[in-house]
Amino acid sequence: MNAPKNYLKMSLLVWDLYLIGVLSFTPSGIFCVPGNFYIDPWLPVDMAIITHGHGDHARWGMKKYLCHHFTVPILKSRIGMDIKVQGIAYNEPIIINNVKVSLHPAGHIIGSAQVRLEYQGNVTVISGDYKIQDDYLSTPFEPIKCDVFVTESTFGLPIYNWSSVEQQNEQLRQWVAQNQSDNRTSVFIGYSLGKAQRIMKAVEGVAPLYVHSSIGRLNEAYERVGIQLPDYEIIDLREDIKRVNKGIIILPPSLLDSNIIHRIPNMANAICSGWMQVRGARRWRSADAGFAISDHADWRGLLDAIKATEAEKVYVTHGFKSAFARYLNEIGTEAHEITTAFGVEDEQEEPLN
Ligand SMILES: [Zn+2]
Ligand SMILES: [Zn+2]
Repeated sequence: MNAPKNYLKMSLLVWDLYLIGVLSFTPSGIFCVPGNFYIDPWLPVDMAIITHGHGDHARWGMKKYLCHHFTVPILKSRIGMDIKVQGIAYNEPIIINNVKVSLHPAGHIIGSAQVRLEYQGNVTVISGDYKIQDDYLSTPFEPIKCDVFVTESTFGLPIYNWSSVEQQNEQLRQWVAQNQSDNRTSVFIGYSLGKAQRIMKAVEGVAPLYVHSSIGRLNEAYERVGIQLPDYEIIDLREDIKRVNKGIIILPPSLLDSNIIHRIPNMANAICSGWMQVRGARRWRSADAGFAISDHADWRGLLDAIKATEAEKVYVTHGFKSAFARYLNEIGTEAHEITTAFGVEDEQEEPLN
């Protein structure tokens, strides 16, 4: 009979345990206690600061959203045109309930931001997803000094080390050229927000570019904030697509195993994802090629970014969080893992959803 009471007691205990600085890690998401707002919550709340437009960070049902200007059209296109959303610039502090809040470039995708919270002299930074490499589309990552840093660890194992963006782009161009000489159409599989636009940029001018409508919709969000993308055409795979022969088609991961992809005549397909670094990756075998190109920091990138924050305490979210937190402790940085609902979309899972 008294189960609810015990449950309440237990949740309060959990709540207390996880109250760190200004943050509390609650069942609805990362909560800023004095500010009375959440960062990338996964359940509906009154006020949400959104680090970037990927589906696992930007969810439906918040009464009010706050994000970078560039993320506003992405949120509207993905969640609804009628949401209440305020956009701010990078490095433009605003005060919410005595907490100084500012956004700083995370280099992950367009508009992606680290959230800096300053309260009574204590600074906490929540990274969201980030990468150190400059992809020439997102505003480059900026390290922010803080006392507490909440980091992702999607690729937090030493086996994940990316080659330079220039080398990656060159690989993609060479692959397309090879396909052209074999009389084949090049089909790239990459996440529609971030990865698809990077692929477009990498192979610009090599052959005519065709993208799936879901990518076209997000391209519009880029174009609306003034980011120039290469010329492209939206392709409907149900129509006669012989005309795209020897061209380049970019499709989202959801179509990888669909019948529709196999209707493309003379095609060679390639997956672009950080997971392709490991040859045994489950999806590797179903594609002709795999390129380890990621919008997340690699092992070195994560370690360098964390060091640059000079944080006393680090909290590790999605990815190889246990192994990564353990390693940080071994090298003398106090680190703890926290459970979140991030990592369902973008590159977090091997199935590439
Ligand atoms: Zn992301
Ligand atoms: Zn994420």
